[in-house]
Amino acid sequence: MNTSRRQRKAVALISGGLDSMLAAKLVMAQGIHVEGINFFTGFCVEGHTRAIRNRDRDRPKRNNALWVAEQLGIRLHIVDVVEPYKDVVLNPKHGYGANLNPCLDCKIFMVSKAREWATEQGFDFIITGEVVGQRPMSQRLDTMPVVAGESGADDLLLRPLCAKRLPPTRPEREGWIDRAQLLDISGRSRKAQQALAARFGIEDYAQPAGGCCFLTDPNYSAKLVDLWRHRDGRRYELDDLILLKVGRHIRPRPHFKLIIARDAGESRFLNGYRKQFPHLLTTSHNGPIALIEGGALNREDRELAARILARFSQGRDADEVSVDYLPLTGDPEAFAVSPLPAREIPGGWYL
Ligand code: SF4
Repeated sequence: MNTSRRQRKAVALISGGLDSMLAAKLVMAQGIHVEGINFFTGFCVEGHTRAIRNRDRDRPKRNNALWVAEQLGIRLHIVDVVEPYKDVVLNPKHGYGANLNPCLDCKIFMVSKAREWATEQGFDFIITGEVVGQRPMSQRLDTMPVVAGESGADDLLLRPLCAKRLPPTRPEREGWIDRAQLLDISGRSRKAQQALAARFGIEDYAQPAGGCCFLTDPNYSAKLVDLWRHRDGRRYELDDLILLKVGRHIRPRPHFKLIIARDAGESRFLNGYRKQFPHLLTTSHNGPIALIEGGALNREDRELAARILARFSQGRDADEVSVDYLPLTGDPEAFAVSPLPAREIPGGWYL
């Protein structure tokens, strides 16, 4: 029931998953004009690596947030927040989850950015697909008011999937939206959302495992910690985040790391960085590219790096593999090395 004469407008946080899609749909069904907003943090699972790896060939190569917007027939505003988001990752007031995921601070940040956007664009309220009890950190009955309060959205933040479990928000109190048609979903089960999707005739939707970003991934978090530990301070650039999603990351010595492609798709992708990083290529056998990140390598380091790369080439069982070291300036240097057995690879090794 929309008792106001003016059509109300809501901005929906669209992650690309089912919940935010359903939340937007529920509100649209009440005659509200909805547009989506999606924040690009650099850690998003969407895009990038899914498009690269050979093993993901059979998965749809789509940006799910855009795809959801297309399914809903709404505009999607993709906002680059890479720079301001750094403070969320580096200094989360509410701490990290199981890995480096600062989910509560992240949610507060995103809702606050959506609130700013809504104010600038003349939108009336904000929608999220949050469900009480779904996530241990940001979607609990006691943390939901924290998100609303600290983001500044207060009672203009509507969670249509679990609204009946929360105090009425302004859109409900003012009659912009009918609370009776909102839901009371709670908990980690996906059954209610799946049933609602079926009711709306939605058959295809993304099912992200664990979370919407790489910060929930233990491997990724370990690589980020390793990056910080070997840098002058905890800092990162967007390229760092992208490269942490690609290849095996092996640190044979504290002052350098190898990023070795895991398949042909990753090799082609890492090739795009060959002007930024010294790198190694096998020449006697097929093999992946290895980027070298770190300071200048002495001859012993270069040979060690070549032996490690040889281990991941098709010459892994050969007595000798030829490897070219290509510095950023100067001539390539050729090595003939014996592949290093996996158990002898020193240092951290992250997939
Ligand atoms: S999983 Fe990542 S994007 Fe999602 S709330 Fe947590 S930190 Fe934010």
